[in-house]
Amino acid sequence: MGKTALIMSDKFKKYNFGKFHPLKPERVLLTWELIKGLGLHERENCVVAEPVMAKDDQIGILHDKDYIEFIKKVTREQQQQQKISDKTIVEGLKYNLGPGDNPIFPFMHEGSAIVVGGTMVAINTVFEDNGITKAFNAAGGLHHAMAGQASGFCIYNDPAIGILSLLEKHDNDDLRVMYIDVDAHHGDGVQAAFYDNPNVLTVSIHESGKYLFPGTGFPDEIGVDAGEGYSINVPLPPFTFDDTYLDILDELLPDLVKAFSPDLIVSQNGVDTHCLDPLTNLGLTTRGHKGIFQRINDLSNKYCHGKLVAIGGGGYNLSVVPRSWTMLFAELLGVLDELPEEIPKDLLESLNITAANEPIPKLFVDPTDCKEIKTRRTSYKFLEAQELYVQEISFKIKQDILPLIQGRK
Ligand SMILES: [Zn+2]
Repeated sequence: MGKTALIMSDKFKKYNFGKFHPLKPERVLLTWELIKGLGLHERENCVVAEPVMAKDDQIGILHDKDYIEFIKKVTREQQQQQKISDKTIVEGLKYNLGPGDNPIFPFMHEGSAIVVGGTMVAINTVFEDNGITKAFNAAGGLHHAMAGQASGFCIYNDPAIGILSLLEKHDNDDLRVMYIDVDAHHGDGVQAAFYDNPNVLTVSIHESGKYLFPGTGFPDEIGVDAGEGYSINVPLPPFTFDDTYLDILDELLPDLVKAFSPDLIVSQNGVDTHCLDPLTNLGLTTRGHKGIFQRINDLSNKYCHGKLVAIGGGGYNLSVVPRSWTMLFAELLGVLDELPEEIPKDLLESLNITAANEPIPKLFVDPTDCKEIKTRRTSYKFLEAQELYVQEISFKIKQDILPLIQGRK
């Protein structure tokens, strides 16, 4: 079995929109604290790797030059004058920066470029023939950023840049990358980056755009030109719960992986699908998250020489994120079965100092009788409707889109 790289660095703390923003660096810091507290980083098949800040020309493989220049300018202004000029603030609106989802923050360029660098290191490490087959960059997964503007808490799109650089490096090799996005929000920025590209199959499973940002990700978004058939979207109704979600993965993912035959799988592991997430309306628990991670990792082992790069993503309830992402990392290491059922008491106490007013429960897997979770469960009729929906949408994707995916020549 290959080794797993854990991308870790204090520098990721620079990606910080401020203390009233939901994308808190603590999400990632708590995950590492839990991983380290359990000694997972010291396992013999774990390699800890440092990210390297992405250079402008690397970021420029996706993003427009004027956008990158603006991010750098605003970062410089803030560092030199502690204050951004009114002119720059107005200019920022053009790039979707400012009041709202994407406020301008100190170190915006460095913080964003290091996230990109982390995902690039993860992808390159796994792709090289060096015994490392898996990698985890918890700070990555900024899947909404578009070529010319910020979107949904994302400045630079690390998964798209990482995949594009890999393809560029292996220009003539007909390399194939499968991108699986299980965040509650549609992976619109990554889809857009590869919409006409048959070398990257993007699969996004998310709460329907009818109810949730960014309002896209419908089944008829299937790609264009040579990329037709290489964008798959599965929108889910609010309150979709664990079993329905996992049924969708079982119905679709194995057939898609077999048809596409990727050289590498990149997964975006947003855990904002949890029923306690403050920004979304899906109904998963950490049991569902565990099932998702096991399924994707299994597919990489069966059909992709074990090659899997897992990156983070959304997840805005601090009591959920570290537990779920630690299970993800343990799964990559092949030791998920060895995790204790409960987080050891001393470790839990120290985690809860950082988690402050969102205390982390001791169980990794949410108990099904959890009161908050129960209140999200709905009638038998509703569950039946969910099952029917799963069958219908899986059937449609298999019938209409799967035949468009070409096998290797
Ligand atoms: Zn999300």
